[in-house]
Amino acid sequence: MSRLTRLRGPRPVYILAASLAGGAAYRFSRPASTNASLHPHEFASYILVDKQAVSSTNAIFTLQNAHGVPEPDSVKEAWKRGVWSIEAKQPQLQIARAYTPLPNEAEDEEGHELRFLIRQETGGEVSTYLHRLPEGATIELRGPHVEHELPQDVREVIFLAGGTGIAPAMQVAQALGQRPGCKMHLLWANRRREECKGGISDEPIAEPAAERPSWWRSLSGSGQGDPQEVPVQDRAVVRKGLIVQELDALKKRNQAATQGLSIQYYVDEEKTFIKPGDVAKRLHTENEGLRLILISGPDGFIDYWAGKKLWVDGREVQGPLGGMLSKMDLKNWKVVKL
Ligand SMILES: Cc1cc2nc3c(=O)[nH]c(=O)nc-3n(C[C@H](O)[C@H](O)[C@H](O)COP(=O)(O)OP(=O)(O)OC[C@H]3O[C@@H](n4cnc5c(N)ncnc54)[C@H](O)[C@@H]3O)c2cc1C
Repeated sequence: MSRLTRLRGPRPVYILAASLAGGAAYRFSRPASTNASLHPHEFASYILVDKQAVSSTNAIFTLQNAHGVPEPDSVKEAWKRGVWSIEAKQPQLQIARAYTPLPNEAEDEEGHELRFLIRQETGGEVSTYLHRLPEGATIELRGPHVEHELPQDVREVIFLAGGTGIAPAMQVAQALGQRPGCKMHLLWANRRREECKGGISDEPIAEPAAERPSWWRSLSGSGQGDPQEVPVQDRAVVRKGLIVQELDALKKRNQAATQGLSIQYYVDEEKTFIKPGDVAKRLHTENEGLRLILISGPDGFIDYWAGKKLWVDGREVQGPLGGMLSKMDLKNWKVVKL
């Protein structure tokens, strides 16, 4: 999915075009929320109980229902169905943005907590607001909203994730982990190693590429800015980052029940990039059932691999397959842009 602002057709993200005064009036004249438990259309109050930095821009937010109400069955269902999100509100501006809950430990799946990996976008209204909140603050949430339902007959997934696109990838890994016989190959690209400290690929990554692929250039605007040059770390002694630790745990859980989860880490500043060959060599066909290539990340990342998504009649649709994948022989693998 595009990880930046997206106005939803049937479910507008902008709540009210309220002035600041209007926003204040809203806050003081109405209860903070109309629903005690999470609901797709009404906001419910959650408390920010923990915020842990993953990197200089990303943090994991842990939220608990303010009324101590457990999550509704719709959340339990969403975990099984595939990729889903929840909207968080910025109350002064009366706008909301979608965020993707991170899987909890399997035994705590029904959970009394929701966790999100949130990147603070430079100049971003809602992400900056959320990052500035202290622990103990109230955040209004609504959802769940299922973004992509994994078909029942899916057997194998190649997931191309860019940046915070790792969150939906983790949801897919969690859902597939409950379906015996399924297999997932996760290829995760980041600009900086700080997002995936200590992450070691299951297969060695080829020599650093001489040039960045165009999707990074399009993200950096002019394409002139060189990434910060840092040596490849001695990963054996680096303390693993929080998301890497969670990926390791997901891998263990998946190996117990399924054909497993393999993970490749690519880091722009180390000049390692996902290449078409990395996808091609995973396009096996020996497994029965449906095979999917899922892509989630910044718009430029999705465009580069599979072409743009389109808006038709107020709804976002897949659009034709473009980008690198359109030039490859995908056999009978189906592509989904998240
Ligand atoms: C289904 C879904 C799930 C998502 N899950 C996650 C997740 O798990 N984690 C996560 O971090 N994000 C996620 N996102 C992205 C998230 O919803 C927000 O889009 C993101 O946090 C930015 O919102 P914002 O309000 O902070 O930024 P905005 O205020 O919307 O701004 C976004 C960017 O655009 C720039 N900008 C704004 N206005 C202009 C302008 N006029 N001209 C030029 N530039 C401008 C800003 O500087 C900023 O960099 C998800 C998105 C979707 C659709």
